[in-house]
Amino acid sequence: MEQKTMAVVGTGVIGNGWIARFLANGHRVIAYDPAPQAEEKTRAMLTEIWPTLAQYGLHPQASINNLSFADQLSDAVASADLIQENVPEREDLKKDVIASIDSFAKPEAIIASSTSGYMPSVLQQACAHYPERVIVAHPFNPVYLIPLVEIAGGKQTSSKTLEKANQLYDQLNMKPLVMSGEIDGHIGDRLMEALWREALHIVNDGVATTEEVDKAIVYGPGLRWALMGPFLTLHLAGGNDGMKHMLEQFGPALKLPWTRLIAPELTDELKNKVIDGTSLQCGDISINDMEHRRDRFLMKLMQLLEEEGFWPSERVLAYERQS
Ligand code: NAD
Repeated sequence: MEQKTMAVVGTGVIGNGWIARFLANGHRVIAYDPAPQAEEKTRAMLTEIWPTLAQYGLHPQASINNLSFADQLSDAVASADLIQENVPEREDLKKDVIASIDSFAKPEAIIASSTSGYMPSVLQQACAHYPERVIVAHPFNPVYLIPLVEIAGGKQTSSKTLEKANQLYDQLNMKPLVMSGEIDGHIGDRLMEALWREALHIVNDGVATTEEVDKAIVYGPGLRWALMGPFLTLHLAGGNDGMKHMLEQFGPALKLPWTRLIAPELTDELKNKVIDGTSLQCGDISINDMEHRRDRFLMKLMQLLEEEGFWPSERVLAYERQS
C-alpha cells in the first residue's frame, strides 16, 4: 500500500477518530484546528487509544510520529491526497472552510466532509476551483473502529471522485457505502434520529427512564442489529413466508398513530431527565472508562461477526493486513 498524506481539518471527537484511523493504516497526517491546546488534546487521545489500535491491527508503517500539526489551513492541506473536514455542524462555517480548502489543495486531492446532515451539493456550492472533487464521507463514532462510512456525491461531484473515494476508504479497512443519491442526514443518521425522537418522547411522557429505554434496545433489537438491519430482521420475523407474511400481518400497523415523527420540544425538564438519567446509568464510571469498555466490546463483536462468516466474503477486522 502506498503511503498517503491525509489532512484532517477540525480535531474534535470525529477529527481525532479519523487521525487515529489514518495513522493506524500507515499514512501521514497533517492536522489543523485553531482551538488552543488542540494538538495536546489529540496527542493525549492517541496515547490513550494506541494500545486498542494495536490490538485491532496496526499497519507495519503505522506510527504516531507520522502526525504533524500545521498553524495554517493552507499548510495543512497543500500536499494532501485526502482532506477530511470535521468542523462544527454549521452550514456557513462548513461552506467557508471547504471553499478555502478548495483554493489551497492539489487539484487531484479529494475533499471529504464528515457532516452528519448536509448534502454535498450544498457544501460544494462555494468552491471556485474544483467542486467535482467534493464529497460527503460520513463516519460513525468511534471512527477508528466502526467500519461504515457513507459516501455521497453532490450535483457537481464527478463519478471518478466517487470511485477513487470508494477505493481509498476501502483501503482504510472501512465499509464504504456509496449512496446513489443525496439526502439530508444520509442513511444511518436518519434511522438513528427516528429512534432518538421516539426515545425522547417516551422519556418526556414519563413512560420509561433513559436506562429502561436503553435496556429495551440492548437486550432486544440491538442484539439482532449487530448482524442484520431492519429488513432482514423482519424477513425472519415472518415465519417461512418471510417478508411477505410479515407485511400482510404487520403492514396495517404502520398506519397506527403510535409512531411520532415530530420531535418533542427540548424543554429544560426533558433535558434534565435525559442528562440526569444518563449520568445515573454511568454511576462512578467515567466517560473515558466507558469508551474503553465500548471499544473492547466492539472489537469482540466484530471478531464474532467475522468468525461466524454470516456474510461471506466480508471482512470487518483489520487483522492480517497486507502492506
Ligand atoms: P467537535 O465539536 O468535537 O469538533 C469540532 C472541531 O472543529 C473543534 O475541535 C473545533 O476547534 C474545530 N474547529 C472549529 N472551527 C474550525 C475551523 N475554522 N477550522 C478548523 N477547525 C475548526 O465536533 P464533532 O462531533 O467532532 O463533529 C465534527 C463533524 O463531524 C460535524 O460535521 C458532525 O456532524 C460530524 N459527525 C459527528 C459525529 C459524532 O458522533 N460526534 C459522527 C459523525 C459525523
